[in-house]
Amino acid sequence: MTSSTTQLPLEGQAALVTGASRGIGRAIAITLASQGARVACVATSVNSAEASAAECAALTDGALALGVDVADNAAVKSLVKDAVQQLGGLNILVNNAGITRDGILLRMSEEDFDQVIAVNLKGAFNFVQAAARPLMKSAGRIINISSVVGVTGNAGQANYAASKAGVIGLTKSVAKELAGRKVTCNAIAPGFIETDMTAALSEDQRSALLAGIPLGRIGISAEIAALTAFLAGPAGGYITGQTLVVDGGLSL
Ligand code: NAP
Repeated sequence: MTSSTTQLPLEGQAALVTGASRGIGRAIAITLASQGARVACVATSVNSAEASAAECAALTDGALALGVDVADNAAVKSLVKDAVQQLGGLNILVNNAGITRDGILLRMSEEDFDQVIAVNLKGAFNFVQAAARPLMKSAGRIINISSVVGVTGNAGQANYAASKAGVIGLTKSVAKELAGRKVTCNAIAPGFIETDMTAALSEDQRSALLAGIPLGRIGISAEIAALTAFLAGPAGGYITGQTLVVDGGLSL
């Protein structure tokens, strides 16, 4: 941990970030830690989350590595209870874990549809529900990572787009339900961001994609992490129920 005399924006706050082992979630966990938050890094296994937790521990007091299948309601309840106990409360929940199982509608298997909904949508529900009480105690912040395709739809991603549109509906409903307890809930809808998820794109797909992005480049995880920290921090307190699109103009 580094020592500093200046008060950091998230000092004294406890955060839980799902999908924190790689890509956007890792950048979010590290950014929150760099702003002073204690961070529970959650991935599919403790082993998977450990490297990110170690990076957080170098920046802040109190970082945890935890493993769970976000789609497992009972396991999530138990993990959140454990995390809240170890962190000494909870102020920030970031639902970021997500998967894709792309395919055209006529060939999409029922399993691929169900699995994407279970991880991306039910996973976010599981964590919001399990963390609602501690977040109500702290007038906390919930940030759900949706996707621009949840707003626009996308050929070949009926399952993924439906899950991410579902996350937006969940966000608005939770924002209304928990506003009375001063909890905010917002969604971030990234466009294409350089991570393992987009590394699978072919060169042709990448060029076609770049042609549709007015800013002419793919985004980086740090750009999503910075907005997450803003929504979690002192300046974000009067924003709730919103979906903030970060896509270089792709959806315009
Ligand atoms: P990524 O690099 O593929 O990482 C996915 C993360 O989710 C990993 O930490 C993974 O853990 C975790 N995860 C997957 N399934 C899980 C499960 N069942 N239970 C627990 N954890 C699970 O993804 P990314 O590109 O950073 O994307 C992060 C989020 O942003 C996702 O929700 C994605 O839909 C959204 N998003 C991404 C883009 C993009 O262009 N990259 C665009 C829009 C939205 P393990 O490492 O243990 O497998």
